[in-house]
Amino acid sequence: MLNKKDIILKGVAASSGIAIGRVFLFEDDNYFCLISKEIPKNARAAEKEHLDDAIERTESELKVVYGKINDVPGENYTHIVDAHLLILHNPAMKANIYKLIDAGANAEYAVYKVMEQIIHSFEIIENDYFKERKADIQDVGKKILANLLGKQRKTPLSLNKDSIVVSHNLTLADTVTIREKSVKGFATDIGGKTSHMAIIAQGLALPAVVGLKTVSSQVRTGDIIIVDGNAGEVVLNPSFKTIVKYKKECAAQAEKIKELENLKNLPAQTIDNHKVLILANIDTPDEAASVLLNGASGIGLCRTEFMYYNRDSMPSEQEHFERYSSVVKAISPLETTIRTTDLGGDKLAKLGLLNEKKEKNPFLGLRAIRLCLKYADMFIAQLRGILKASAYGKIRLMYPMISGLDELREVNEILEKTKQDLRSKCVKFDEEMEVGVMIEVPSATVIIDDIAKEVDFVSIGTNDLIQYTLAVDRINEDVANLYNPLHPAILRFIKQIVDAGHRAGIDVGICGEMAGDARYTAILLGLGVDKFSVSPFQTPKIKRAIRSMYLADAKKTTDEILKCGDSESILKIINKH
Ligand code: PEP
Ligand code: MG
Repeated sequence: MLNKKDIILKGVAASSGIAIGRVFLFEDDNYFCLISKEIPKNARAAEKEHLDDAIERTESELKVVYGKINDVPGENYTHIVDAHLLILHNPAMKANIYKLIDAGANAEYAVYKVMEQIIHSFEIIENDYFKERKADIQDVGKKILANLLGKQRKTPLSLNKDSIVVSHNLTLADTVTIREKSVKGFATDIGGKTSHMAIIAQGLALPAVVGLKTVSSQVRTGDIIIVDGNAGEVVLNPSFKTIVKYKKECAAQAEKIKELENLKNLPAQTIDNHKVLILANIDTPDEAASVLLNGASGIGLCRTEFMYYNRDSMPSEQEHFERYSSVVKAISPLETTIRTTDLGGDKLAKLGLLNEKKEKNPFLGLRAIRLCLKYADMFIAQLRGILKASAYGKIRLMYPMISGLDELREVNEILEKTKQDLRSKCVKFDEEMEVGVMIEVPSATVIIDDIAKEVDFVSIGTNDLIQYTLAVDRINEDVANLYNPLHPAILRFIKQIVDAGHRAGIDVGICGEMAGDARYTAILLGLGVDKFSVSPFQTPKIKRAIRSMYLADAKKTTDEILKCGDSESILKIINKH
C-alpha cells in the first residue's frame, strides 16, 4: 500500500460540513468541459472529421499568433508557436486520438485522455526541460478542445456526485452552473466567507473552504481530497487513518441533521415565549422546495441575479414573471421577499451592457440599485415581472444597496410609474405589496430613522454592511481575519437599525450570513431582530438555538456587549454566557 501522508492546507471556513471525494479541477476555460459519451459506429468517421476540423482551426489560430509575435520588437518568441505547431501535428498523438474514437469515444474525451497521458509521461521524466513542456502540451490541448467544444459549451459535464470542485476562483455564474451537477463540496484558492460562491455552497449545505491560496495548483483531477468546512481546511493525499477519522465525523454529522428534522414544524420561540420568524434565503427558484422542507416561515431574501447569468441577452418581462410566480406559488400562503437585481461587484454577468469596462473598485461602482437606475429598461422589465407575480401570492419587494433617501425616492417613482402603466392596461397585481430596503451601506444606517418612515420593512444585509463599514473586501482572503461581525461598530449599527425600525412601527429582519451562524443568534435576538433569513439548511439549527434560550438572558448579555469598545471584550462576554 502506498505510504500516504496528509497534506493539510488552511483556508477560510466558508460552508460547514465535511466532504470526502475526488477532485474536479475546474479551470476558467474549456479545457475540462468534457462529455464522455459513446459514439455509435456509423458516426465515428464524422467524429474524426470534427477532430480534423478543430485541429485545422487551431492551426489557423496559431498562425495568427505567430504573425503577432513576429511583429513584436525585441526577443523573438516564435519558437514557442513552432513548438505548439509541432505538437499539433504530431502523428502519434493524432493516431492515438483516432484509436480512442474508433473504440467509441467522442473527440473531446479522446483529446483530453491522450493529452493527459502525454502530460503524465512528461511529469515522471526526471528532467526539468520535459516537465516544462507539459505546459505547452496543455496549451495545445486546451486550444483543440476549445475548438471542438465551441464557445458556448462551458458546462463541466463530467462532474459527478462524488466530485469536489477545486478551482483558483469560482464566479457566481460558475457556481450556479456547477450546482446543477450536484457535487460534494468546493475548495478555492481565493475568496472570503461571504463571497457568493460561499453563500451558494451554504444554500446547498455543501462543505466549502475558500482562501486556500494554492490548492488548485497542488491537485489533479481524480485525486482524493477531504474538505473540512468546519475547521476551514482541506486534506490532500489523505492516509487511510485520516479517511476513517473523517468518515466517522461525517456519520456523526448526518446524525445531527436527522435530529434537527424534528424541529421542522415547531415555532422559533424562546423559552420565555418570545417569537421570531425564521425565513430562508434562496438564490434560484428550485430552492423553494427546500424552504418548506426545512420548516422556514417563508422567503426573506429571494436573490434574482440568477436571471442574468450564463446568457447574452436581457431576460424579458415574461421570463421574470414566470420564474418569480413559480416561487410565489410554491411558497404561498407564506411570504416571498424578492430583491431586485444586485448585479455588479463580484456578481459578474456576461451581458453586453455590464462590465463593458473594468471597474477599478467594482464593489463601490455600478452595482445593484445604481445599475438599475442607469439601465432603467432592464429594471422596469424586472419590476413588471415581480408586480405581475404578486397577483399569485404574498410578495414583498426589496431594493438592495440603498444609500440614501433621494435614491429610494427615485426608485419608488419608477415603481409607481410601472404600477400606473399596469393599471392602465388592467393588468392585475397586488396593490398592497409591501416595499422595503436592505440596509447594507453605512450611510443608510446613519439616516435609518428617515428611511424607516418611507418603507414598509427593512432587512439588514450584514455581508455588505460589514464590508463597507469595516472597509474589508468580503471576498479577499488576505483580510478575512478583519471581517468581523462582532466589531462593536457592527453591533451598534444593528441596534440603531432595529430601534429605528421599531420606532417607525416596521419589522426589522437580517438576511446576511451572520443570521445563519448560531454563535450570533443570542446577540441578534437580544438586539431585537424580528426576522432571521438564513439558507434553508440553516433553518433548523437557528430554530434550535432560539428554542433553547431566554430572551431576557439574551437582552442582558447584549446590553453588556453594547458597552464594549473592542471585540475581545465582546468575545469574553459571549464565552462567559
Ligand atoms: C448582504 O449583503 O448581507 C446580503 C444578504 O446581500 P448579498 O450577499 O447578496 O450581497
Ligand atoms: Mg448585499
